[in-house]
Amino acid sequence: MGSATLDAVIEALRNVEDPIFEKPLGALGTLVDVRLEDGRVWVKVRVSSPSEEVRQTVRERVEAALEPLGIEFAELELEVNVPTREATSTDPIPDVRNVILVMSGKGGVGKSTAATNLALALRRLGTRVGLLDADIYGPSLPTMLGIEGHPTSKDGKRIQPLQRFGIKLMSIGFLLEDPKQAVVWRGPMLHGALQQFVTDVDWGGLDYLIIDLPPGTGDVALTLAQKLRITGAIIVTTPQAVALQDVYKSVSMCRKLDVPILGVVENMSYFVDSAGVKHELFGSGGGEKIAEFAEAPLFGQVPIDPQVREWGDQGTPVVQAAPASPAGQAFAKVADALAERIAKEHFERGGGESAPEGEGPKRLRILR
Ligand code: ADP
Repeated sequence: MGSATLDAVIEALRNVEDPIFEKPLGALGTLVDVRLEDGRVWVKVRVSSPSEEVRQTVRERVEAALEPLGIEFAELELEVNVPTREATSTDPIPDVRNVILVMSGKGGVGKSTAATNLALALRRLGTRVGLLDADIYGPSLPTMLGIEGHPTSKDGKRIQPLQRFGIKLMSIGFLLEDPKQAVVWRGPMLHGALQQFVTDVDWGGLDYLIIDLPPGTGDVALTLAQKLRITGAIIVTTPQAVALQDVYKSVSMCRKLDVPILGVVENMSYFVDSAGVKHELFGSGGGEKIAEFAEAPLFGQVPIDPQVREWGDQGTPVVQAAPASPAGQAFAKVADALAERIAKEHFERGGGESAPEGEGPKRLRILR
């Protein structure tokens, strides 16, 4: 194999465009490694989102770039480098790359269900995920994830989160004998506990910390926003108009707190009956309207599926128990969209360690 061929391979790969940034890998510096052995090529590319769609697109583009060269494509390795928010010097959890608030205007729309399933879907993409149940007035995470127990501390300083399905968890429910007890706590006690959950829990290094906020009021979001830089919020809504009025308040609150709205999830959007007919039980267009108002994308619509509740009650969320089900797929799609949006958002704001602009070409390790 002559060197001209190798140069041609590298040149072709440098021109492949990253699907998030739509810029050539060569210019972004994200073509990490190229090896050519016996006419077959190994490629390693760095991407900033773990989403299935990004993986697929990079693969297709690499294949398309190599095809005219008549070179057999052997393997594509993707190195996922989730971008990180800017942590100030007083940030209590600087190793947590992204902090995402899951909000809703009112209770019962499936906010906790969405937070839990999103966390699991991101975990299934191979990233490091934590889930903080900050729904201090009605913690549901212990039930949804079928986990009980009291967090311990190894050193008497930092609290060890519990773990399930590969994600780190913290909930006020873990501290109470009876989760309903929290309602009798006074506000300052709850806020104190919540602050501790962020500052004193040993979250370690995480790509995403998903925080399930209580519905409606903004006091918890305010407490958090004062403590640390938040990557952004997701708003969960149902399609009907009654839910919408409240949800507008969440949007305004984010604006006031300067928390970007990453996207909207419409839950319980429709029901598909056994004959395959789609019924929009609660009307339609709600998610779309909120997304428009929030100037953010509609990440997805999750169908009403009795399995969602059943699996939730049994302690194994649908994304884990039945990933191929329509609701499981819908949540996975939302997780994909969220990861991509975070990567783009970082890129547009120009922050984060993996802002690829101007990084220049990375060294290539070429064996032959
Ligand atoms: P919130 O956190 O907004 O109060 P939850 O996540 O606790 O709402 O959900 C309320 C109830 O609705 C739960 O019993 C949950 O299992 C159920 N649920 C949520 N989403 C769906 C869905 N897409 N299909 C069927 N049931 C759902």
